[in-house]
Amino acid sequence: MQLSALFRAALVGQDLDYLATTDDVAFGLDGEGRIAMFNDASLRFAAAEGGGERALPRLGQGYLAVVPDVLRPFYRDLFQHVRASGVAHSHDYQCSSPTRFRLFRLRVQPLTRDDLLLIHRLVEVREHTMQRPPEPLVIAAYRGEDGLIRQCAHCRCVRRVSSPATWDWVPELLGAPGMDVSFGMCPPCVSSYLRSSRAVSVEG
Ligand SMILES: [Zn+2]
Repeated sequence: MQLSALFRAALVGQDLDYLATTDDVAFGLDGEGRIAMFNDASLRFAAAEGGGERALPRLGQGYLAVVPDVLRPFYRDLFQHVRASGVAHSHDYQCSSPTRFRLFRLRVQPLTRDDLLLIHRLVEVREHTMQRPPEPLVIAAYRGEDGLIRQCAHCRCVRRVSSPATWDWVPELLGAPGMDVSFGMCPPCVSSYLRSSRAVSVEG
């Protein structure tokens, strides 16, 4: 576990053995939203997801900088809300890998007036039920005029250029080398995310 000296005081009363040994991915954020603590599970997770050295968390790094653009306003609001209300929140989100459907539960807990503890716990993992389109893969069908493939930040489906309302599950495109991706959200994820963010504000 890596921890900035100032953040140690914010963690008084927390179970440090749990944070150090759990498979839950934990981050501590200071009042500026910078990473002031991360545990070994967060390093293992980032390494397993690929992206190399640059994808690994660092103390002092802005947490939202590594969140896809499309999700940033949601998390900025959520963190503000938790700080202002002093009440912890949790919601589920999908973060699938090419081979597995994965559902995570994020708990955002206020530690002090400024400091937050974020715990990402894997709550469901199973085979994907989404089928990839039966046609042979034509990468150009998903590459926009800007050369980018538009990928849903949650379920990782990709948008069809000829039919922008259609997002396909194409696991072959995920993590393929040289694939330039921009993040968006597919219609089903927009509706489930809005539902979950509404639940967050109602709970508070
Ligand atoms: Zn989606």
